[in-house]
Amino acid sequence: LHWEKQVRTSGQIRRQHGFSVLVTGAAGFVGTHVSLALKKRGDGVVGLDNFNNYYDPSLKKARKALLNSHDIFIVEGDVNDARMLAKLFDVVAFSHVMHLAAQAGVRYAMENPHSYVHSNIAGLVTLLEACKNADPQPAIVWASSSSVYGLNDKVPFSESDRTDRPASLYAATKKAGEEITHTYNHIYGLSVTGLRFFTVYGPWGRPDMAYFSFTRNILQGKPITVYRGKNKVDLARDFTYIDDIVKGCVGSLDTAGKSTGSGGKKRGPAMHRIFNLGNTSPVTVPMMVSILEKHLKMKAKKNLVEMPGNGDVPFTHANISLARRELGYKPTIQLEVGLKKFVRWYLSYYHYSHGKPM
Ligand code: NAD
Repeated sequence: LHWEKQVRTSGQIRRQHGFSVLVTGAAGFVGTHVSLALKKRGDGVVGLDNFNNYYDPSLKKARKALLNSHDIFIVEGDVNDARMLAKLFDVVAFSHVMHLAAQAGVRYAMENPHSYVHSNIAGLVTLLEACKNADPQPAIVWASSSSVYGLNDKVPFSESDRTDRPASLYAATKKAGEEITHTYNHIYGLSVTGLRFFTVYGPWGRPDMAYFSFTRNILQGKPITVYRGKNKVDLARDFTYIDDIVKGCVGSLDTAGKSTGSGGKKRGPAMHRIFNLGNTSPVTVPMMVSILEKHLKMKAKKNLVEMPGNGDVPFTHANISLARRELGYKPTIQLEVGLKKFVRWYLSYYHYSHGKPM
């Protein structure tokens, strides 16, 4: 295959006892940051991404160029491609898979339901099958989502809270993923860790997310639509800065142990973990907007609209004591500081390199 040599080189471990990690969704927001962090500490990293056009493809290409400049190779392919995955595991004996490829976003599901099933359910199963058949079997860390808490109204959200009332198809596919990974752990001894990320933001972020699209609109003098809950209650999110999320991902890989099955023949002890990765200090959306206004030195034109009931939940708030205890996870960046870093990146890079503001 044309990429075999590059994959081998990219997957090469550069420190003693380092990992060799396959990062799926590597051209995505979180995938880019995690790949860079792992490479920096000497792990071998190979990326995989299908470069779908859910949002600005040029941003994904720019992230890819950034990764390539750090000697990280990205295979262009789909996690549903079983033959390609088998070949990848043949070329590199991955110790870990960081599975971040997914169809993200909650509202897009109204028009594109099958894209969630394709990437988040079928893609996950194809990847788990490849891990099961690989020798050695890699430990898996993957991105679930805070959205699994759905209409849960007990705050803060703890891992043991009920997750049986998803508010969007996106949330339902992530919840399904948690149950699917459990069976692969139970039957085949795969080590699996699911991470429930809470609204991740920062440089190289996703243009479909509110903080990003608000920044773009404010700079263009266009109005922004700010959703509110019933009775004009502000929505709130437990915004979590990308560097904190990366630390949580790396901590998960470091404690993931080994898969204990062998080609699907032996059963291993249960190592199926789920952790919240949040900031544990929710901020209302209007407050987030006023922080952006401050950093941009511009006023937003706000349209306050009642939340249309198409997948959003009124608030999120993570209890992170489990991740703190087991992963040493300790978020340090508050929204005020994190958005400053985002705005600096946006103005110095995105606003201009993408030409006229989009
Ligand atoms: P992203 O969309 O930027 O990254 C996902 C990447 O996966 C994209 O580059 C996309 O091209 C790729 N991809 C999608 N389907 C694929 C497929 N079938 N095969 C190969 N590649 C595919 O999203 P992100 O914000 O970086 O999110 C990373 C993970 O974290 C996702 O699983 C997402 O659901 C989850 N998550 C993110 C947030 C957040 O706030 N950013 C919150 C909760 C959970």
